[in-house]
Amino acid sequence: MLRSLLSSSLFRIDLRRLILILAVMSAFVTLANSFYASYRVQRQLLIDNTLEENRVYATKLAASTEQFLKNMQKQLAYSSTIAAGHFDDREILQAETARLKYQTDSFNSVVLTNAQGKILATSPDSLQMVGRILNTPGALEALKERRPLISKPYISAAQNLVIVISAPIFHRDGRYLGYIAGTIYLRQKSILNELLGEHYYRDGSYIAVLDNERRILYHPDAFRIGEVLKPRPVTEVVKQHTNGSLMVTNLAGEAMLAGYAVVPSSGWEIITQRPTDATLKPLDGLMIKVLKHLTPLALLTLICVWLCSRMIAHPLWLLARSANEMDKPDISTNIREIPSWYFESTQLKRALLMGINLLQKKIGKLKFETQTDPMTGLFNRRGLAMTLESVIQQRQQFSVIALDIDHFKSINDSYGHNIGDEVIKSLAEQIRNNARESDILCRVGGEEFLVLLPGAGLAEAEIIAERLRLNVEKMSLPGIRPITISLGVAHCNQLSGEPDASLKKADEALYKAKQDGRNRMIVIHE
Ligand code: GH3
Ligand code: MG
Ligand code: MG
Repeated sequence: MLRSLLSSSLFRIDLRRLILILAVMSAFVTLANSFYASYRVQRQLLIDNTLEENRVYATKLAASTEQFLKNMQKQLAYSSTIAAGHFDDREILQAETARLKYQTDSFNSVVLTNAQGKILATSPDSLQMVGRILNTPGALEALKERRPLISKPYISAAQNLVIVISAPIFHRDGRYLGYIAGTIYLRQKSILNELLGEHYYRDGSYIAVLDNERRILYHPDAFRIGEVLKPRPVTEVVKQHTNGSLMVTNLAGEAMLAGYAVVPSSGWEIITQRPTDATLKPLDGLMIKVLKHLTPLALLTLICVWLCSRMIAHPLWLLARSANEMDKPDISTNIREIPSWYFESTQLKRALLMGINLLQKKIGKLKFETQTDPMTGLFNRRGLAMTLESVIQQRQQFSVIALDIDHFKSINDSYGHNIGDEVIKSLAEQIRNNARESDILCRVGGEEFLVLLPGAGLAEAEIIAERLRLNVEKMSLPGIRPITISLGVAHCNQLSGEPDASLKKADEALYKAKQDGRNRMIVIHE
């Protein structure tokens, strides 16, 4: 089944198809490989660019935040010197807290306490806090540390999640008087989320700010502010560098490309993230473009490969077909005409021609041997049949002479078989000498011969036969007595007569010549 499928022309495996399959396969693999390589390069480029963009952006935001915190600390330091000079004047203290709150517009609220934490002035004073003792973590830390501070986020007295930036107030003589602090609400509108909140993108990009204990200070989802994150690669790496970028998975399990930077004065981490999927979205369009650019060249290559495979395979295919037809007479000419333009095909062609030449010579020799009598070199019966056939085909008239040595047995008996052979050879020589080039000479039996005279009429044949008889009679054979022959002559006019019948007639005439006393010629007239 498989063999018949393979040998049918549709599924035949030939050189051209093999070259074509090989070329198409390698072209396809190369195409797929370059497509994949360009996909990988484009993908990496998009990822690297986004990581770098996020890193630069986070660094910029960290610098802005640092600048903001420094400014706030300067503002508070200035207010602290004003308050130190007028610490007993409640109106000035109240005016200074109000100025700080409303002029800078950086804090959600401002508070000023004495060394025991009692509120001396606050702005705005909507909750009427003046006179109360503040014991929030921010207040306790400020009172204890007595230095400029940025607090951790905590729940304030007014139940807001806040951070507090504070500056101590010292009297000119070095006495600690209290502190002045600005509060920033993390969950409400504040200077911090104004600074960062503008940068929320639609494609899923966002910014998050963590303090150095991984507590969320800023997040687009306000409910998550205040939450403390578990240690994760992004938060761990940030501790070791001031800025950088890395690929992470966020808490929602989404692959993100993140950039990060640390705000030096507070140790806050600013993280800018973009989903990997959103980053890689343009890749689809890009790859279609790459494919569009690759396809025409690939098709052109394919056509070229197809044409080349034809050119390479054609001479071999023609040689292979010729090898199948070695018995055709004009095969050598056909093979010589095959265009062989490269080494292997030229060599094969030469080998095939040499092979055919040898074969034809060998066949010719064998043919000659099967048609020839080895003793006399004349045609045998097979040779006669062959030549007679070509005479018949040419529809030529011919005459035929049948001849036989008289009393040959007695020659054999008298001189031996070897001498008998020599006599036969001498007679053959004599027949050859009396014949024309075109005559066909055959030894058809032991000492019986047949001479075919193409184109000769009966009269001409009669002359030739008689001359031969006389010449044999005169022939001198060393050491033995002369021999004679009897001959029968007939003619065939192919338009009316049968060639085989003519041969038979010549035989009959020979028989008659024997009967009539031998050493004579009998002619059969039609
Ligand atoms: P006839 O005149 O009637 O022809 O008498 P003949 O003796 O020649 O008789 P026939 O032609 O019948 O005999 C042929 C003899 O020729 C018989 C055989 O011994 C001998 N002979 C046949 N072939 C060869 C051969 O190749 N070499 C030799 N030496 N003798 C042969
Ligand atoms: Mg005989
Ligand atoms: Mg005889």
